Amino acid sequence: MQKIDSLDTLLVEQLRDIYDSERRLTKAIPKMVKAATAEELSSTLESHLAETEEQCARLERAFGMLGEPARARTCAGMRGIIEEGEEHMAEDYEFDTLRDAAIIGAAQRAEHYEIAAYGTAIAHARLLGREDVADLLDQSLAEEKNADEKLTEVAENCVNVEAMSARSAEDDDEAESGDRPGRSARANGNGARARSTRSRR
Ligand code: FE
Ligand code: ZN
Ligand code: FE
Repeated sequence: MQKIDSLDTLLVEQLRDIYDSERRLTKAIPKMVKAATAEELSSTLESHLAETEEQCARLERAFGMLGEPARARTCAGMRGIIEEGEEHMAEDYEFDTLRDAAIIGAAQRAEHYEIAAYGTAIAHARLLGREDVADLLDQSLAEEKNADEKLTEVAENCVNVEAMSARSAEDDDEAESGDRPGRSARANGNGARARSTRSRR
């Protein structure tokens, strides 16, 4: 490993880390799309997948501008965020909307991590007078922020609301028939989790 002896080398190292994050995400997002139920969620994830592929290409251009080979260096943070997201997706959910709510949570954690990483790299590029590199990275940062906002919208307008109404439908069901005693406690448990997800946003 190369010694980091200046802000220039630090910037290149950070770009390698971000490049690794983006490449991991191009493999992780399709799994999230597959696991998602709400159409708005899968389409949001799919359009961000296309952006993520472009972000990889932008990073390759940034390496070129800096006269460096496009090399990735393991981003332990994103590897962990993705691993945790996969764990959350694999849980046993009573309703699909609850899984969707968990997928949104995992995706937003990834977006926030990327936003932080790009913010630092852009600041360093500007300090070094590399406006060309900063402007390129800024385009990706804007996409990350937009993806994060879009996910909040999907949560607020559809997923969290559905998670709550799935719970009320269960409650109504039981009030009418009362023939599934085993379901009540589980439905209430999930409802409580769905409610706390909603109040967080
Ligand atoms: Fe990205
Ligand atoms: Zn990292
Ligand atoms: Fe992203």
